Amino acid sequence: MNATLSLVDSHAHLDMPEFDPDRADTVRRAFAAGVVAILCPADVTRAASLPAIAALAADFPTVLAAAGVHAHQAKDLTSDHLRELAGLAAAGAIRAVGEIGLDYHYDLSPKDIQIEALRRQLAVATEAGLPVILHSRLSGADIVDTVDGEGFRGGGILHCFTEDWATARAMLDRGFFVSFSGILTFPKAAALREVAAKVPLDRLLVETDSPYLAPVPYRGSGRRNEPAFVVETARVLAGLRGLSLDDLAGATTRNFAGMFPFEKTGGQC
Ligand SMILES: [Zn+2]
Ligand SMILES: [Zn+2]
Repeated sequence: MNATLSLVDSHAHLDMPEFDPDRADTVRRAFAAGVVAILCPADVTRAASLPAIAALAADFPTVLAAAGVHAHQAKDLTSDHLRELAGLAAAGAIRAVGEIGLDYHYDLSPKDIQIEALRRQLAVATEAGLPVILHSRLSGADIVDTVDGEGFRGGGILHCFTEDWATARAMLDRGFFVSFSGILTFPKAAALREVAAKVPLDRLLVETDSPYLAPVPYRGSGRRNEPAFVVETARVLAGLRGLSLDDLAGATTRNFAGMFPFEKTGGQC
């Protein structure tokens, strides 16, 4: 238990089946480790996803729900999904549209279809007045072009950042926050650490991307990542910036709360 630490995990897939055995206990462990809020993106192409996140959000006021269709599932996006997202936004059931974006590494949907799915969901976010959670892998230039082409001005989070500084700079200029995951702790991530050292402190966030990408020292042997582990990424980021862990945590939590105001009751749940 860390009584003073105040961290936000800005991206955790607690809807995934990996958390079926202990979803609520996972949140409690995070709160005990100093996490005060968790943003959970649901995927509306998976029937079990949104109900799992909605149930958590109902039980824990600082578990915040988002919803979208991931780049991987872009080819499955239908008009019904877009209507569902608009309805969720109108009902106040989600705080952001996401995660949405482009992934040219896995390339699980054709690029033009990924861009079209991103464009249509940016339009839903604009209509709803919500920020977005963007995923970008080897697709930074197209992310920037699509955000510009759609005239999207709602801001949000560029999550699990792995792109270059030019992409970070372009998205910072467009009002986005840049969120770093456990990748930052990996020995080979020197270039990413250079970018992370340059992002203005008032635009930084940290995340786990659970159940994926467990940070060092939890990495390895297929171990499940969980929001409590976000402290390890925050520790590395603090070191890069010459800050104490508490100061880095305070800054990233303030950044998050500026975009997604929440009552800091997490530790008491
Ligand atoms: Zn992602
Ligand atoms: Zn994700």
